[in-house]
Amino acid sequence: MLDHDTYPELADGTVPTDQMTLRPQNNYTNVLVLRELQSHAVFTTNGQDADLANVAVGDERSEYSPGLMFMRKQTGSDRRFGKALQRQLGLFGEEEDECTMQVNEMCQDCPECILYGSAAGDDAISITSRVRYDTAYSLRDATVIVDEKFQNAPGGDYAKGPEATIREPDFFEPGTLFPCVVTLQDATPAELAFVLRITRKNKRYGAATSRLGRTKNHVLGMYTGSEEGAANLELTRDAIRALRDDEHTAYETTRDVTSAENVDPSLAAEHVKDAFESRIESDGLDLTRVSTETVDDLIDTATGDAFGEVLATQRERSREFLAEVTD
Ligand SMILES: [Zn+2]
Repeated sequence: MLDHDTYPELADGTVPTDQMTLRPQNNYTNVLVLRELQSHAVFTTNGQDADLANVAVGDERSEYSPGLMFMRKQTGSDRRFGKALQRQLGLFGEEEDECTMQVNEMCQDCPECILYGSAAGDDAISITSRVRYDTAYSLRDATVIVDEKFQNAPGGDYAKGPEATIREPDFFEPGTLFPCVVTLQDATPAELAFVLRITRKNKRYGAATSRLGRTKNHVLGMYTGSEEGAANLELTRDAIRALRDDEHTAYETTRDVTSAENVDPSLAAEHVKDAFESRIESDGLDLTRVSTETVDDLIDTATGDAFGEVLATQRERSREFLAEVTD
């Protein structure tokens, strides 16, 4: 069973399934993730330019331009994946309409809608999301992770002015790393497991084509308590400084890190995890690391064959919860 008897470490970060509540309480579970691009990816708002920011990175007054994975690029992809997962696990009966991504036509009757929230249709209610995502910042600078691609325009005229090339959207290079936190507030253990399954199994982000945006989400740890941990930007800056200070690397400045041709994902993962935990210490946060055994066990359950039943049970509870809301 996915409850606090089986997972006592989740008692501080989740709510029991029969105590889902409309009134926000402070039960937070922070899931620490490192997203690693495994193919080229497109993250753009205007259809062409890579989404970038300018960020000061520390005591050397140095700046860099990280690539951005906006919040909605993560939630959009994860929600689509979560809804498909529910179908795959047989959550919907044969006579039932399956849930959709259409903003005002979500069913509001599945665990995904009730956890991730849904906008109000004409007579429906609006459900606030209990999962928080945050814009993610790449560890390295745009000059090494963004590839501007041009291709020659078809035609083959002799005169080739600037107009004769077509610019494709900017591509993020494979190997680009985005430290991220996904935070659940007042979620049940089963809802947490649902998010873990999505995180482990969703492999596409950004522009949705089959050959782009392949991503591996490394789950680095889980932290429960009464508050949220470090924000993505803070976490990314801290990890850059930690890579610089690591004696086993040749980086001497933060610029050496942000302009590196590549950064080893497992080394980055170690520093992202340390950075998150150092913030708990230095900022005096009320957060406790969940043991690796519990995290692994929960992921096994979430990715196992019997998870469809867990989700079906959660759906009953989610419905009761929603019925209270609408009374
Ligand atoms: Zn739904």
